[in-house]
Amino acid sequence: MIESQIESRNYIGGEWVPADSGEVEEVTNPARPSEVLGTAPRSDRGEMERAVGAAQEALPGWRSTLPAARGQILLRAAEIIDSRSEELARLMALEAGKPLTESRAEVSRAAAIFRYYGSEGWRLYGVAAPSTRPGVRITSTREPLGVVGLITPWNFPLAIPSWKMAPALICGNTVVIKPAANAVLNAAELVRILEEAGLPPGVVNLVMGPGGSSGDALVRDGRVKAISFTGSTAVGLSIQERAAGKKVQLEMGGKNPYVVMEDADLADAAAKVAYGAFGYAGQKCTASSRAIVVEEVYDRFLEEVAEATKALKLGDPLDEEAVIGPVINESQYESILGAIEQAREDGRVVLDGGATGPKEEGYYISPVIVADVENSSQTAREEIFGPVLAVIKARDFDHAVELANDTRYGLTAGIATRSLRYAEEFIERSQTGLVNVNLPTAGVEFQVPFGGSKASGVGGREQGMAAIEFYSGWKTASVLP
Ligand code: NAD
Repeated sequence: MIESQIESRNYIGGEWVPADSGEVEEVTNPARPSEVLGTAPRSDRGEMERAVGAAQEALPGWRSTLPAARGQILLRAAEIIDSRSEELARLMALEAGKPLTESRAEVSRAAAIFRYYGSEGWRLYGVAAPSTRPGVRITSTREPLGVVGLITPWNFPLAIPSWKMAPALICGNTVVIKPAANAVLNAAELVRILEEAGLPPGVVNLVMGPGGSSGDALVRDGRVKAISFTGSTAVGLSIQERAAGKKVQLEMGGKNPYVVMEDADLADAAAKVAYGAFGYAGQKCTASSRAIVVEEVYDRFLEEVAEATKALKLGDPLDEEAVIGPVINESQYESILGAIEQAREDGRVVLDGGATGPKEEGYYISPVIVADVENSSQTAREEIFGPVLAVIKARDFDHAVELANDTRYGLTAGIATRSLRYAEEFIERSQTGLVNVNLPTAGVEFQVPFGGSKASGVGGREQGMAAIEFYSGWKTASVLP
């Protein structure tokens, strides 16, 4: 339980302000839906226009601040995150329903991200290039894009805002961020930390409100030079159309395969698939939602994965041992239960689950595993974003790779094998931005490029140096002294 409700506000030009209409949305705990954690302003277009104006005004000062001085603020933010880690992890568990152990890991990842990009202030290198013209000196240097708009989902409420804001800020951009409902309290805490770390007014602005109004206003605003979006494929692709003329980066859904070969350590593979499919109730873009298993070990794998799944504890996110918490809200709860009905038709039920009790007692759904699923069925094609695993039989390696790639998505893929040849060939042939060998699909490191292909990602990778590339532009100067 929280001690007192949190009244969160928009942060525009360095001021914490309510919505113009005074309207608020209640923020509730998915583990106990009657528990109100706080409120968030229900903003519209006007607030967003002012936030973009504030970011525009702060731009000259911030872009002329020395990169290392910008970095100092990010490094201070990292320290504050670390010093408040337990409190932040608990807030994440309460608002986003993320089990405490994972929440703690996400908080420390957020701190690491600020530390990584804070240090990049010293390394915003350019290039000096040879010229084709005698005596001409050419240099290409990085410059900020201007005001950037960040639109984030609820499932990584600190890590995703961090991995967008930190590189945007170190490159000298100013920011307007619109977080998802169900993640607003976490986003506001992060912005408060940046304020405390010394970020000048207007450099980061936060507006909470519906995607269709305040989010749309951000996407369409001509003063915004780039949009970085993470969320569903449907919303992402619609943003691409509305953001014409801007630099756009879209990180979207997934239907991630985990191939299990005949030479795999089956117990290890089953544990990784179970955790990948059901950790955080399957609510990760990187969740392992399809297991593709060669027929030689198919039946044994089914037994192993059912056992490994039963070992995962479902419970309150504040329970130290819980791995599976509630799903995020009522509409996701209903939609996942509908997808489970469909899954029972699309395959043979190996482990049955579903609603664990009345939804008033928490949006809990226990894991469902269905086998003998056709890769063409709805269960194998649509992202469910809940605790459902489809197991698909493959004849051999080539068939498994074909099935793995036969999807509109291309975020991440895994393979369990002891064979170097299978591993290397899978890496080569997988049509995904991320490939994992004997490692869960849901494991992301912040220092390397992250993102998907096909309907999972458009417009350049996030994290690592790829994010510096997205949040900066090049200026080439040719000089004849
Ligand atoms: P969502 O698409 O519903 O919402 C994401 C954000 O977009 C929210 O802030 C929302 O308010 C905003 N939005 C909604 N409509 C909008 C509009 N018309 N204009 C502008 N903004 C709008 O996604 P969600 O339910 O918050 O998150 C779950 C989805 O995110 C899943 O599909 C998941 O796979 C995906 N995701 C992808 C990654 C990745 O890196 N690839 C990471 C996490 C989550």
